[in-house]
Amino acid sequence: MSVLKSLAASFSAIALLATPALVAAQLEARNVILIIGDGMDDQQITIARNYLAGARGRLSLDQMPLRGVSQVLTVSEHGTPVYVADSANSATALATGQVTSRGRIATSAGEDKPITSIIEIAEAAGLKTGLVSTASVTDATPAAFVAHINARFCENPEAMKDVTFSGIRVGDCSHHLKAAGGLGSISEQIAVSGVDVVLGGGLTHFEVPAENSSDTVIQVAEANGFHVVTTAGDMASAPKDKKLLGLFSPNTLPVRWQGENGRTAEKPEPSWANHITQYIGSVKMPDPMVCEPNPDYAGTPSLKQMTDVALDRLSNDRGFFLMIESASIDKQSHERKPCGSIGELAQLNEAVDSALAYAKLFPNTLIIVTADHGQAAQLIPEESLFAAFGVPVFTRGRLARIKTPEGAIMGVNYATNDFIMEEHTGVNVPLFSNAVGVGLVPNMLVQPQIFEITRDYLGL
Ligand SMILES: [Zn+2]
Repeated sequence: MSVLKSLAASFSAIALLATPALVAAQLEARNVILIIGDGMDDQQITIARNYLAGARGRLSLDQMPLRGVSQVLTVSEHGTPVYVADSANSATALATGQVTSRGRIATSAGEDKPITSIIEIAEAAGLKTGLVSTASVTDATPAAFVAHINARFCENPEAMKDVTFSGIRVGDCSHHLKAAGGLGSISEQIAVSGVDVVLGGGLTHFEVPAENSSDTVIQVAEANGFHVVTTAGDMASAPKDKKLLGLFSPNTLPVRWQGENGRTAEKPEPSWANHITQYIGSVKMPDPMVCEPNPDYAGTPSLKQMTDVALDRLSNDRGFFLMIESASIDKQSHERKPCGSIGELAQLNEAVDSALAYAKLFPNTLIIVTADHGQAAQLIPEESLFAAFGVPVFTRGRLARIKTPEGAIMGVNYATNDFIMEEHTGVNVPLFSNAVGVGLVPNMLVQPQIFEITRDYLGL
């Protein structure tokens, strides 16, 4: 009885179920929690670990029994390999088991055909499903689990033609308009989906009118059985008899941390003499900085809070699939903001704690933690070794020198390009699993195998 009491205390859904037979069924049910750190390669994990736990410390992630690597696969529209992924094609691989081209949301390269996702398969079999993200819920990673469209930026009805990103035209989804026989934009596809819990940012994409309708996309979602909330308080008290759509900011959720006074990585400044030849002159390196709380984060639900609400609502006697994304490890790295990425990785680690606590109560819960692709940040010497020889060697990229709580300085470098934002890298990414995954998840796999392992574990 004490087990049942502790279960009931932890998960109110169980208290409502009440009968021992149903609780027993819930304990037997198989669940999969897939946690994706967007851009969370081993550079990002090491940088975050150094700051959060110290050079000899361990994150919860590090204590998971299975640790391996996942090869990221991407193809061109013609099927030849592309060695660096984006979140759309890599999330498609995780969600559907199919390798596709960059920018695509669960559609095939070349043919542009929808590919069925694990969420659609799970729903059809009567399992509950959920998507939690610190990005807009219409962003590439969550979108690939629920929507099908040729271009990731077609997030709402108004973005379907002449898609622009930072003022540059990046595509056209007009052949996926409902009027053209398509499924419509990503927010419209979420609004008519059967996903039980959808939590994250992206209110902007739901406040606009649906295609050829006087109703907003929010109204379409409500008509399709979603209870829509925009605050953490309303999320916690939302009725349990409806699907839940939580949209807690206009777009990506504010991140927890920022650099001192909002600083990013900065360019070292060589003296005039060094411009003549790199062997002479001097260089002024960026001043060291600490990480500090981001004031814009106040009031934002944490990834852990959203995860706990999702687990509570999804827990049932048939099983569930839940995808949780910590999105801004990637987004902050694009902007050369190491403190933002570290705070976001702390959030992922807390979500891992929640998932592990759930799996302790419900032992048939497979937890897989991985990344979708590599990112730009590199942990480099905060002062070049060549400085000892009086040679002013410095990175041609941007460098942050971060004062860690251990009293040391950590150099984080960004140098994929010299444009407005950094790019991804093509490294294989980390893979972790709880005890359920040992013997089930190989130490080295290709990304689409994560879909197959999930499908097979859920018996689908
Ligand atoms: Zn990215």
